[in-house]
Amino acid sequence: MVGLWDKPGIPHRGWRCVDVYDLREDGSTPEETNYATCEMCGHERIRFVHVLQHNEYENKIRVGCICAEKLTNNYINPKAKETNLAKKAARKSKWLSRRWKTSKKGNPYLNIEGHNLTVFPNKFKPGFWKYQIDGQFSKDSYPTSEQAKMALFEEFWGIISEE
Ligand SMILES: [Zn+2]
Repeated sequence: MVGLWDKPGIPHRGWRCVDVYDLREDGSTPEETNYATCEMCGHERIRFVHVLQHNEYENKIRVGCICAEKLTNNYINPKAKETNLAKKAARKSKWLSRRWKTSKKGNPYLNIEGHNLTVFPNKFKPGFWKYQIDGQFSKDSYPTSEQAKMALFEEFWGIISEE
């Protein structure tokens, strides 16, 4: 596949990264992963997709790490974001099989990295689950304790990424 590098009218610098996402975030195997293709160079089997935007180009483009580095002229952040997403995916895939303890009230909890994480039944919405992180309750409820645990993971990851 020929990419956008050769097309006239495509800026080659001055792009901003607006998002990076992992196509294997759900813990699928390398064989199962639905890879992307870099729009700039046509490189196939991209796991981490960098979404770039440019003031003088109307569409966002989706590219791999090497093209993201060139187009944003940043040779640190694209790789660092991929490393962080890979860490997140590895951790997420083991999240449900961790040894969750059971509180006195019978709720699954974890004490990790200085945080108390619990999922518990929503007494106002029977059959649904909520979670709390250090005493802060989730806004939403989830149909299963597993879904509550996964939602908890997302918020927890956000917290520890900022620490
Ligand atoms: Zn590329």
